[in-house]
Amino acid sequence: MPIQPTSKIWHNGNLIPWESATIHVMSHVVHYGSSVFEGIRCYSQPQGAAVFRLPEHMQRLIDSAKIYRMALPYSLDELCAAVVDTIEANGVAPCYIRPIALRGYGEIGVNPKGSPIDIYIANYPWGKYVSGGDAADVCVSSWNRLAPNTMPALAKAGANYMNSQLIRMEADTNGYAEGIALDVNGYVSEGSGENVFIIRNGVLYTPPLSNSALSGITRDSVLTISRHLGLTVIEQTIPRELLYIADEVFFTGTAAEVSPIRSIDRVVIGDGKPGEITKRIADEFFGIANGLKPDKFGWLTPVKVGSQETVSA
Ligand SMILES: *Cc1c(COP(=O)(O)O)cnc(C)c1O
Repeated sequence: MPIQPTSKIWHNGNLIPWESATIHVMSHVVHYGSSVFEGIRCYSQPQGAAVFRLPEHMQRLIDSAKIYRMALPYSLDELCAAVVDTIEANGVAPCYIRPIALRGYGEIGVNPKGSPIDIYIANYPWGKYVSGGDAADVCVSSWNRLAPNTMPALAKAGANYMNSQLIRMEADTNGYAEGIALDVNGYVSEGSGENVFIIRNGVLYTPPLSNSALSGITRDSVLTISRHLGLTVIEQTIPRELLYIADEVFFTGTAAEVSPIRSIDRVVIGDGKPGEITKRIADEFFGIANGLKPDKFGWLTPVKVGSQETVSA
């Protein structure tokens, strides 16, 4: 899906024209993948528009940067305000927001300390995916997620996405919508950019972060919603074969939201339709995000956007 440009991009404290947000080919990030980033959604609502879990996303950006020893010269509040300013300057909702901190143009040795840190925040239109749409046919990837002593899985880092690309391309080549990767010990980890949940006998399971899964904010939202619905939720190591005999399986992520899975390696999950519990969780998730249910967990940051563009997914 090609990006639909907006008017402004936030760069180190200033809003600059979209076309001016360029970097030099000799920037450190281009050669070594030295970036950390976020993906956030802003939903349009009957009352206006709101960003979903903005402080949690920007705190994770700060955490990802800290893991890579990148000192970001802005506070959490300043970064959140920058996101709101960018959305309001562009006046587009619903939208996707992409903050990124990268090692820029300076030195080109592996040691990144001589390269400046540049922060950009872009947003662009992105419509809603319809909840409960086509459930996905996925595979278990032949690629593993990052071993814990190689690349830190808790950092949402650009370089980690080389692994994600291998998972995604393999799935695509073989006719699947997505791949579920195992960790180096053979246990279920996550998709290329989504966390995974299974339901069996009414109980919800998801791998703990120690199985090389990212601490997804949608994952956390689903854990919170599920407990609130009175479901039993267990973060537990999941063997591959439990995927095939689950009653329901779904992905979570800012992009994926709550996405049901229909089959894994051509084994049909449950009766091949989005399951009842998945639907209850998705209803609650979309109800809050779309402003149709009370924001009982305090997840929404309102933004002022003039004319609301309606964009199809
Ligand atoms: C971003 C991401 C997710 C989903 O995280 P959310 O905070 O829910 O968007 C899951 N796995 C990986 C590898 C990711 O990069």
